[in-house]
Amino acid sequence: MSLEDHVEELASDLDVDKEEVKRDLENLVNYSVPMDEAKQSLRRKYGDGGGGGSGPSSKAIGEVSTDDSNVTVTAVVLTSGRRSIQYNGEEHVIREGELADETGTISYTAWDGFDGGLEPGQTVQFGNAGVREWDGKPELNLGESTDATAVDETLDVDAEVGGDAALKTLEPGERGISVEVQVLECETKTIDGRDGETEILSGVVGDATGRLPFTDWDPHTEIEVGASVRIEETFVREFRGAPSVNVSEFSTVTPLSEPVPVAEDAPRMSVGEAVESGGQFDVELVGTVIQIRDGSGLIERCPECGRVVQNGQCRSHGTVEGEDDLRTKAILDDGTATVTVILDDELTERVYGGDLDDAREHARDAMDKSVVADRIAERVVGREYVVRGSLSVDEYGANLNASEFAESTADPAARAKALLSEVEA
Ligand SMILES: [Zn+2]
Repeated sequence: MSLEDHVEELASDLDVDKEEVKRDLENLVNYSVPMDEAKQSLRRKYGDGGGGGSGPSSKAIGEVSTDDSNVTVTAVVLTSGRRSIQYNGEEHVIREGELADETGTISYTAWDGFDGGLEPGQTVQFGNAGVREWDGKPELNLGESTDATAVDETLDVDAEVGGDAALKTLEPGERGISVEVQVLECETKTIDGRDGETEILSGVVGDATGRLPFTDWDPHTEIEVGASVRIEETFVREFRGAPSVNVSEFSTVTPLSEPVPVAEDAPRMSVGEAVESGGQFDVELVGTVIQIRDGSGLIERCPECGRVVQNGQCRSHGTVEGEDDLRTKAILDDGTATVTVILDDELTERVYGGDLDDAREHARDAMDKSVVADRIAERVVGREYVVRGSLSVDEYGANLNASEFAESTADPAARAKALLSEVEA
């Protein structure tokens, strides 16, 4: 059914003006409200079969479900972050964040027709807030028809007000978050943005709890390598399975006089736990290499795109003159799960015990390239390693791009004891 058909149906069922229904329906659909839900809410608006007039019921946040269409809640604003979206060729600024009462928390989106305050820490009664399902959970839509009244009441909520957060606790989807970090890496990139070519910053930030990648979509001059800054109103997105900090035109960046200390070590996890988490930007794993996978040792890369070339063929560029390189793909197992650890040329030189020229000579003498991977396997399979790097998990499996790969020195008895105390903790 086309939008026009839905409008036709609604207008005749509800006996109201077609243009009016069309305007409302287009609005809802443009705001990504699913068609069924949008129609339902218009049926309610125009009083189809309902008692009419009676407002939505007051609910505790913990009771709001995706079956509700409209509710009234009284809640504390935890966070509030702005975002600009393009809609009907115009730019609109919406607000997103989280609300809480004694029974739980809920995300909200405030569309630009919403006329009310969303100051973190303020308790507000939201009358007639729409409910929509987002990622399987209910979320509140605050719009033109929502009334907001500041309430002079302190709710005993079990959540942090204001959005100050440590890097380790960030989760994709969070908005209105403030962090205090040190900029560890930073580079300018040119991308094709909404308004043509535009410059952004990308790099890595750290605090005492960890490191995460960041992107600044509207470059702030205060963000440079070595700077310690407080960034307010950031949002968190998923980047290769791990959270990333996003800075926008709405963020404020303030230099800090004291440098922010940065954790030296990556958090250590079991392979199972790390894989289960869906991705980690910087993690340490300990396990035994059980196998060296195909595509290890002396390999060839496409000079155009750097992809590994198989039989002189690049997947994107066809027949190419491949360039020699060294790489290792090692399967690491700690008893909880396995992960493929990818070693770059430098780390591979170390586990192979020679450089690219040595590997070429080795292969030439044997008249077989696979001798390089064979030697790596002889040297690492069956041994235990401490590995640090960036883990991504997708349909191709769990891959960790290693920045460090060192044979474990801990004696097995001491480690067993440490593991035991972790399990008992
Ligand atoms: Zn290529």
